[in-house]
Amino acid sequence: MKLETVGILIDIKPLSERDSLARIFTRDYGVMIGVMRGAVIAKKNRPLIGQVGAVSWNARLDSQLGVFHWEASRNMAALIMADFSRLAMMNAAFALIGALLPERERYDRLYNQTIDFINSLSGCRDVVGEYLGWEINFLREIGYALDLSACAGCGKHNSLNYLSPRTCRAVCDACAAPYIERLYRLPMTLDVAMRLIERACAAQGADMPVARRILCHK
Ligand SMILES: [Zn+2]
Repeated sequence: MKLETVGILIDIKPLSERDSLARIFTRDYGVMIGVMRGAVIAKKNRPLIGQVGAVSWNARLDSQLGVFHWEASRNMAALIMADFSRLAMMNAAFALIGALLPERERYDRLYNQTIDFINSLSGCRDVVGEYLGWEINFLREIGYALDLSACAGCGKHNSLNYLSPRTCRAVCDACAAPYIERLYRLPMTLDVAMRLIERACAAQGADMPVARRILCHK
């Protein structure tokens, strides 16, 4: 079986003295995992996290760990390499994709949003706002679509200072009063988003990625 598409290299770790295990978020097949032969000892064209490129994936059986052939066309991370906080945002996004998206399930919209987000990182002023925008899109894809436009209880549009983690909808001060300890305080911040991600991790039996957790400990 052979699959060909384009993607973003989101993770790579040594598997042996020569080979690496890589994770690629692809446009057509979502997250794919496979072996990159010789990646550990490559002297030139070494695969790097943040590269985009053409990928082909081969496996004799569909269930086997496949082998990647990777042709990087560009390193999106090149412009942010010296900036720790921007790099940390990119790594958090990649860690969430790797931890919470199922393998081989296509996410067109999120794929494009992820490319746009990484490209915007080098030039944008509000890095946290940019990241949070990406993360809200990501949460929608994994079943936590936020609706902050009106109160879930009474429908009004002002005093929306709480979020119900169960419905992901805003709640006004008056409707929130009886349940206040079960609600999250708005506005949306990295901390509020992390609590939703923790719920998603718990629901999937996944570990909260360290790369995401550290964004909240600065
Ligand atoms: Zn209300």
